[in-house]
Amino acid sequence: MSVPDHRAGDLAHLIHPLTDHSQLPETGPLVIVEGEGCELIAEDGKRLIDGMAGLWTVNLGHGREDLIEAAHAQMRKLPYVSTFGGVSSPPAIELAERIAELAPAGLSGVFFVSGGSEANETAIKLARRHWVRRGEARKSIVLAHDRGYHGLTGRTTTVTRLHPYHVDFGVQAPDIVEVPAPYTYRCAEGVPCDPCTCPICTGRSLEAKIEELGAGRIAALIIEPVFGSGGVIVPPPGYLRRLREICDRHEILLIADEVITGFGRTGTWFGCDHEEVVPDLITFAKGVSSGYVPLGGVVVSDELWDDLRDPAQRPGYLMHGFTHSGHPVACAVALANIEAIEREDLLARVRETSEKLARLIAPLRDHPEVGEVRQAGLMVGIEMVCDKETRERWPVEAARGRSAAFEARERGLLTRALLDDILCLAPPFTIRDEMMERAVEILCESIEATRGRIAETR
Ligand code: PMP
Repeated sequence: MSVPDHRAGDLAHLIHPLTDHSQLPETGPLVIVEGEGCELIAEDGKRLIDGMAGLWTVNLGHGREDLIEAAHAQMRKLPYVSTFGGVSSPPAIELAERIAELAPAGLSGVFFVSGGSEANETAIKLARRHWVRRGEARKSIVLAHDRGYHGLTGRTTTVTRLHPYHVDFGVQAPDIVEVPAPYTYRCAEGVPCDPCTCPICTGRSLEAKIEELGAGRIAALIIEPVFGSGGVIVPPPGYLRRLREICDRHEILLIADEVITGFGRTGTWFGCDHEEVVPDLITFAKGVSSGYVPLGGVVVSDELWDDLRDPAQRPGYLMHGFTHSGHPVACAVALANIEAIEREDLLARVRETSEKLARLIAPLRDHPEVGEVRQAGLMVGIEMVCDKETRERWPVEAARGRSAAFEARERGLLTRALLDDILCLAPPFTIRDEMMERAVEILCESIEATRGRIAETR
């Protein structure tokens, strides 16, 4: 029996996100037919290590019977019911209860959506509604960090502060204002950056921006506890806490975008747990269901939740929601996923594995083309530079990181280069030591192998 080749069909009909379709016929679509633990199997039989757990998503790895069984059982029992108008189902209720228990104390209301962009879209709408209902509709601005990634729907495209995501789409959403990132390697205030005195890292730049705009016009500030797609930027210790203080002082709601960091990727349930910061809203997606089914959501503070339930605010309809909000199958899988994280003590495993990963990647710091290696838990970013001394970036046409990522794919590791030059590793929590060693080995070999080829574009 001949093996079907789906590549022609892909090229003919499938529009891919974040893909240059004009180049795809040359590189060829990679058709994956199966997942097995931390590996992917392509249609031609080639095995690849899933170096980014999909998109920081398949945290528990592929082929887990417990998650499959949870979906199966729920589909048989009740595949769908809407949560509009107060209708509900046991998985949605139980998952909301569970997430409220796991979230920092002081957050207790959970709204479900299908992914990260919808989660952030919802958080922003809930924040703005909060101020509108308090008679402060002027508080509408959302402050978003340079290099932050928060999704690609209408509004979240603008909240994402990465230029390549804006250029082709014309007019941007109003009332989104950028604030500088605590990105010490390329600090907007100049390098070297001392986080103890840097105006950005100490929050002085943010506070100046708030004073310039007027706190009376600002609804919320959004931040990823560890910036993901913007290059695995790890804010200096204390930064998140400083943001909390500043937001409190100016009555601005703090939204933590935990779409990547939520549910264990940095070794705690949420990224903000490391600093014991309690945001007003936390958004999540990806790892909540390990990507077996699409799910996301927002956890809101007791205050926002109480406002929604306040009889004094009648009529209090929340005129927001999606067909798949509280989808019973997605919620059942997420419950099984959380149960497995607890049963298998996977947060401790993430902490242990990330220490091993730190040791494995450490030698890369000496590589002449590696500017910086950053890590938080099982999130690693390796920033490739053309000149280590001056931190000069490679010209765009070199696609330095992307070439290395493509080479890695040929050698059996699927990974990505963020913003062309920042190589990324974010394996499933369940990866075994030998496979992680092999993944780092392939990455190092791929950087080396592409070195000569790239040099010509310098
Ligand atoms: N926020 C963050 C931090 C993300 O990393 C992502 C996705 N990479 C999103 C939001 C958007 O999620 P989605 O693609 O599920 O809409």
